[in-house]
Amino acid sequence: MTKSLSKELSAKAAASIDILKQAKKDHQQVIFANSLGAEDVVLTHLIARHTPDIDQFMLDTGRLPEETLTLLAEIRKSYDNLDIQVFYPDASQLESYVRLNGINAFYESQELRKSCCHIRKVEPLQRALKGYKAWITGLRRSQSVTRVDMESETWDEGNGLFKINPLLDWSETDVWDFIRHHNIPYNKLHDQHYPSIGCAPCTRAISAGEDVRAGRWWWENEESKECGLHLIKK
Ligand code: SF4
Repeated sequence: MTKSLSKELSAKAAASIDILKQAKKDHQQVIFANSLGAEDVVLTHLIARHTPDIDQFMLDTGRLPEETLTLLAEIRKSYDNLDIQVFYPDASQLESYVRLNGINAFYESQELRKSCCHIRKVEPLQRALKGYKAWITGLRRSQSVTRVDMESETWDEGNGLFKINPLLDWSETDVWDFIRHHNIPYNKLHDQHYPSIGCAPCTRAISAGEDVRAGRWWWENEESKECGLHLIKK
């Protein structure tokens, strides 16, 4: 039998739905950047059920694990052919980068890692956000030291639109209780100790007690672990 939602989690879900509805009302052109992570499948569900007029896209970097692409197909099917537009890196920029630096250059220096993230994620994100007034993300405060001070709505100076974070106060347990309660499709790598999933060569499983972001860019220090999609301007 499915475990029922606690009063506290039902209230958090209702608050997140209100944030989504308010975002649509205030900004009209609103899009959800769907990474298909655990938080984002929660948002996929909330948006599909309560604010289906919010658009959705995802970035296929060309280095995603097979499990993420399988999940994309599964989600599309589960929510009546849900329209998640897929954006790819610019082919000529990527070809030049690989030709010059090699296919796995991101392991060699932080600079090369950031250039790879820029070509495969940041530039396609900027294309995806064109024409929109606000974008939705699944960021949570407790995910990382770089996300503690975030607000549910902020002006994203770098991209020139508002950024809405409806799950900011959710805990990891809240996310998983909600997924299980609603039987939402999720990335099967989560069952193999991958709490945070990005590109295959830059993501690994973590051990018990490690920080949830410890499996991302594990060769770099904590403060530099952002790909450029969610940098905070201070
Ligand atoms: Fe490149 Fe790794 Fe960034 Fe993916 S996460 S874009 S493979 S550096």
